[in-house]
Amino acid sequence: MSRYSNSSGIVTWRQRQVNGDLIVHLLTPEGQLRAVARRRSRATPPPIDLFQHVAVQIYRRPGEELGLLVQAQLEGALPTLAEPGRYPYAHLLTELADRLFVQGERAEAGYTLYAAALRGIAARPDARWVALVMAFKLLQGAGFLLQLRCSCCGSKEVVALAGLEPRCAACRGGAGLLAEGSREALQAMAAKTVRQLMEAPSQPQAALWRFLELLVLREVGPLRSLQLLPAQ
Ligand SMILES: [Zn+2]
Repeated sequence: MSRYSNSSGIVTWRQRQVNGDLIVHLLTPEGQLRAVARRRSRATPPPIDLFQHVAVQIYRRPGEELGLLVQAQLEGALPTLAEPGRYPYAHLLTELADRLFVQGERAEAGYTLYAAALRGIAARPDARWVALVMAFKLLQGAGFLLQLRCSCCGSKEVVALAGLEPRCAACRGGAGLLAEGSREALQAMAAKTVRQLMEAPSQPQAALWRFLELLVLREVGPLRSLQLLPAQ
């Protein structure tokens, strides 16, 4: 069996090591690919950055977790993603995709959604709305239900949030009531297509962002990019 393999995907994570090596994750249609680019290797490829679409050749010894990146070629990049009004949203979707599609099972659909999300954030004037819709769709694509349940009793009749804890009327206590239309907006996120959601943004968006935050926390864990989003 060949120890060399070729893949193509989008860079979803990169970290420079103390010794100068660069560890990268790519999301490919087959799932996540992890590799190290050695600093001292003659074959060290040019720096590869987040959000870039690259074709890579990986060398892997049997039993090794990390492949060695021997070649990387840029296949596509979306330069507008570096703009301050777009970068934080591309970062959020990227961190989410990197966590959600580690295994190959749902990766092909996840990859397609993630690539579309980056193109939307790069091109559309409403990057914040694109990010909100596509973050929900990535969660859905990974198999999670876009549904809130009371954190005390499990009821689906959520009417309030205590911080990031959904509460029904009976368990509400002093928790703040959800804005009118919040539950319907979340249901629309689950039921409507990306195209429908792009054409008619749901309201109230502030509530949708809080729902996204609590679903991400519940299903994925804390995301740095979510904490760094610009306030609005
Ligand atoms: Zn309850």
